[in-house]
Amino acid sequence: MRLYDTWSRSLVELPEPPGPVRMYFCGPTVYARAHIGNARPFVVGMWLRAWLRANGYDAELVHNITDINDKIYDAAPGASAELAARATQWYLDDTGDLGLGMPDHLPRATDSVPAIVAFIEELIAHGHAYESGGDVYFSVASHPEYGRLSGQRPDQVEQGEEPTALKRDPRDFALWKTNKPATEDTWWDSPWGRGRPGWHIECSVMAEQIYGPAFEIHGGGLDLVFPHHENEVAQSHALGHPFAQIWAHNGMLRFTGEKMSKSTGNVATIRDALEQWGSETILVFFLTASWRKPIDYSEETMRQAAARRDTLRNAFTLEPAPVEEERWRAFVVTLDDDFDTPAALAVLHEWATVGQLELLRRGLAIFGLESLAEREEAPPEVRDLAERRARARTERDFETSDRLRDELGALGWEMRDEPGGGYMLVRRA
Ligand SMILES: [Zn+2]
Repeated sequence: MRLYDTWSRSLVELPEPPGPVRMYFCGPTVYARAHIGNARPFVVGMWLRAWLRANGYDAELVHNITDINDKIYDAAPGASAELAARATQWYLDDTGDLGLGMPDHLPRATDSVPAIVAFIEELIAHGHAYESGGDVYFSVASHPEYGRLSGQRPDQVEQGEEPTALKRDPRDFALWKTNKPATEDTWWDSPWGRGRPGWHIECSVMAEQIYGPAFEIHGGGLDLVFPHHENEVAQSHALGHPFAQIWAHNGMLRFTGEKMSKSTGNVATIRDALEQWGSETILVFFLTASWRKPIDYSEETMRQAAARRDTLRNAFTLEPAPVEEERWRAFVVTLDDDFDTPAALAVLHEWATVGQLELLRRGLAIFGLESLAEREEAPPEVRDLAERRARARTERDFETSDRLRDELGALGWEMRDEPGGGYMLVRRA
């Protein structure tokens, strides 16, 4: 299997099974309900793990929770720890409801502070960081490789941090920040006084705490390439640690529908999307675009995803054709080539058309969609309405027939004519 790697800007071959393939995907900063775009790295990481395991790999996924951050202090003055704990639980509930299971490890920055302090001390000892007024900064000039991951020109580096005279070089970034008692109600003791870690250092430390100094895949959104991942790789490479072999960056989710545009402040959360569309439609939606490409979230694209989900589910009402095992190869080829899910989805649709239901069930299970293979029995009141409607149609009482159709629709069911003259009950979105 090969995957696109941002570091080398090329497709890189994974080791042969069983690997291992150890993956670290950056998780959310927890201060509010996560928006649907935050679900994408989670979904991509969980799908990759499922696919690798199905192919005999020893695959593992770490997804961190950033529960120390300015955004959290700003969102809950005086109660930041409580907000972070609550928002962590929201994130676990919301991603859990996607039905993909959970990563192997979900480390939190607040649990890792002693290890973060030790890592920073080592950077200082090796001349890659310095203390200044209770803060500690990484010295960009000490690491000539800096900028390689993101392709930043060294003279154009802009960290996006608050400007401060404490930095020796404006390109340097914070590893440790001294506590501001007026606005920051959580802190830890350190050799540099009371304070808290910067954002980037937590991922170098948590990845290496779990996997050691080298692992296979580091993932996250494209928006994290700079400065977050550039700074992570600088911290670890500066100490001579190999760190990630492959940098896998997923494309961003865009809100394109008018009702959900950012300009109107109406950004959909994972919870909103679950309530409006359900987990199956969300997963089918993510399948429709390559993991590296942008994906547009709108009423229209979600409706299309719901229709595709119905097509896949309705295939299981067909008579299964004898299993043609050799067809599985077509699916393998798509996913082994840079995890091309739109191509894999096309294979699933083809199997749906020709009644390869066993292969279809197996393929759907990789993406957490095995529930589509469970044919749903209509409840008695729905079957009763359907019978009455069938009778009304036989009697050419179209008014009653239309009314009963609407009643069925209100209950979430649809009658579809079958070739033999009967009908089939189909659950709607
Ligand atoms: Zn990170």
